[in-house]
Order: sequence, then structure tokens, then C-alpha cells
Amino acid sequence: MTQSYQITLLPGDGIGPEIMAVAVDILKVVGQHQDLDFEFKEALIGGVALDAVGEPLPQETLELCQQSDAVLLAAIGGYKWDVLPRHLRPETGLLGLRAGLKLFANLRPAQIFPQLMDASSLKPEVIKGVDIMVVRELTGGIYFGEPRGVFSTESGEQRGVNTMAYTVAEIDRIAHVAFATAQKRRGKLCSVDKANVLEVSQLWRDRITHLATEYPDVELSHLYVDNAAMQLVRCPQQFDTLVTSNLFGDILSDIAAMLTGSIGMLPSASLGAKGPGVFEPVHGSAPDIAGQDQANPLAQVLSAAMMLRYGLHQPAAASQIEAAVFTLLEQGYRTGDIQSPGTTVLGCRAIGETLIQILNQG
Ligand code: NAD
Repeated sequence: MTQSYQITLLPGDGIGPEIMAVAVDILKVVGQHQDLDFEFKEALIGGVALDAVGEPLPQETLELCQQSDAVLLAAIGGYKWDVLPRHLRPETGLLGLRAGLKLFANLRPAQIFPQLMDASSLKPEVIKGVDIMVVRELTGGIYFGEPRGVFSTESGEQRGVNTMAYTVAEIDRIAHVAFATAQKRRGKLCSVDKANVLEVSQLWRDRITHLATEYPDVELSHLYVDNAAMQLVRCPQQFDTLVTSNLFGDILSDIAAMLTGSIGMLPSASLGAKGPGVFEPVHGSAPDIAGQDQANPLAQVLSAAMMLRYGLHQPAAASQIEAAVFTLLEQGYRTGDIQSPGTTVLGCRAIGETLIQILNQG
């Protein structure tokens, strides 16, 4: 039986519309192969929304997203809007979307494609076969904890304060996402904290350890964050899924991403307890190459694959897209950002057309 999904598309700014067009074409083809019917509805976010209606996240956009099965976002932002006050910045639209959909888990994969190993600054033998998923808590911890601010002490000296705080409920919900993610991967989960120094981390470790009994098929380990940072660059092959708090995840997900060396290849997912997730490339709107058919659409295409796997629970369709990207690279096709000697450079649109040929050849 055909499975139907309503997908909200948010192409946004810069290269957003170009890479989104490729991802939508790919989804249509995979939908035909896998008996999935996608109803796409497009809405405004970021700079284009500011230009059209004066706000970066129109209420209409949020409501459409809330009613959909998943949200596929491209990128927002550009020089033109960088000078606006904070509440009118394109990024404010993105934060509003995450809050409006109650997205608390950020999934950032870092996978080395063997064809792109030269792009990494690390030695091939260190990064060969790396396939890591960082699950970062997104709405708690030190970025949101109270009290926060800059206060005057009794002696009149200024003192800056932020608070790292997690409730059991906040830890448990990100833990469940992480264990479930590990189950969909290779069944290994490493929780990263600073339990030797921080009480909040000790609670984190205790809860994760406690919840592990519900997931006997997942092998759990723990690392202190300083060691995790070292291990990520020393021997990243040891990791499958990592779970960590907002601050540690912010840093570790960027380290993991840079193992791959190519920003145009990195997708991400943001998930809530229920309702639609948001799936988007890690990169920005690349205004320097917008409208020139030079953008690499593969992070967007891989974000669509993440949407299928983690948002719509259609792993076969996700795998089909991922395999097509692998074949495309294997055949030597590249966009300018990931080209190397001996490869064939194509534009954004031509990469999409080639992917479709690969998909249809099966
Ligand atoms: P960026 O990621 O847009 O670009 C950094 C560099 O990488 C540029 O040289 C760009 O050409 C290149 N690049 C990025 N994506 C590419 C792709 N798919 N194909 C080929 N090359 C690619 O970061 P930036 O220049 O710091 O920011 C530009 C704008 O994007 C800013 O307005 C920023 O606020 C916004 N931004 C948005 C997001 C988002 O939408 N989530 C994330 C980061 C930055």
C-alpha cells in the first residue's frame, strides 16, 4: 500500500532553492521506487520571509510545519540581512522553528566517503571507515540554564554567570533518542560527560546508565569530554553513536564533522519527542556562490535521506539515496568544492540529474 507523507519545504536563502530543487527531484524518484507518496508544500523562512512579510518565521510557516510529517530545510541568511536587529535576523527564524516544534535532539553524522578521504586534514589510516553519529541535547544545559547574566558583586566587581543544569526528564528524553539511534546503527553508544568534576554530569551518567537496562542490544560506554575530544582525532573509528549535552555536543559535533573535511557533504536532523523533525544541511546559505549553479547539493540530498530514516522510518528509501550518492562519487563526479585531480566537475543541477540516472539504473 502506498504510504503518503506531507513534507514542508523551506528552501530559504542563497543556494537554498538550488539544492532543495535537487533533493525534491530525488525524493520523487525514490518515492516511485519505494511506493511512497510525498505531498510537498513550500513555505517562507529566513531572509526571503523578511523581504516578503517582514518577519523571519511567519506564523503561517510554523503552522504548516507543525501540521506536516517532516520539514526539509535548506539554508537561511545572507549579507543583506546581517545588519538587522537580532529579532529580525534570519537565524532568529531558525531558532523559532526549533522552539515551535519542540526539537531537543540534534543528530549530526560524520561519515567518511572513501572517495573524499583527501579532503580530511587527518591521515587516511586514521579516518578510513569513520561513520559516527553525534546526538546532541539542543534545548537545555548551560546555553539555557538560570541564573545567567553579568552581575555586580558586593565589592562592585562584575561577574559573569551561566548555569549548567539538566533535569532527569531532559536527560531521559535525549537518552531515549540516542539509544534508539544506536539501535538503528551498529548498536554502540558512548555517553560523554564531565562526571569527575560536575554534579550535573554525574546525574547525566547515572540516568544514562539506568536507562541502558531498557536497551540490552546497545553496548554503552562513557567518556569524559576532554578524553572524547582526544579520541575523536586520535582514533575516530572506535565510535558509532555519541550522546552528550548541549555545550559538549556543540564542540564535539564540529570536531567530528571536520574529520570529513567537506562541509558540502554534511546533513543533520533535529528531533522532538513527537511531531515533525527538521532535516537540513550543516552548511549555511553560501551567498558567495548563490545563483551560479555551483553549490554542492549532496548535504541536502543526504538530509532528505536522514528525513526518510529518522523522521519517516523508511530505512530502505534512505539507503537507496545514500547508495546513489556513493555511486556518484565512485563514478568520479564532483561539485567544485570537493573536486580533486582526475574527477569530473558538474554543476548543482547536473549532479541531481546524474543521481537520478543512477537511481533509475537501480
Ligand atoms: P556557509 O556554510 O554558507 O559558507 C562557508 C563556505 O562554504 C563558503 O565559501 C561557501 O561557498 C561554502 N559552501 C557552503 N555550503 C556549500 C555547498 N553546499 N556547496 C559548495 N560550497 C559550499 O557559511 P558562512 O559563509 O559563514 O555563512 C553564510 C550565511 O549563511 C550567513 O548569513 C550565515 O548566517 C548563514 N548560515 C546559515 C546556516 C543555516 O541555515 N543553518 C548555518 C550557517 C550559516
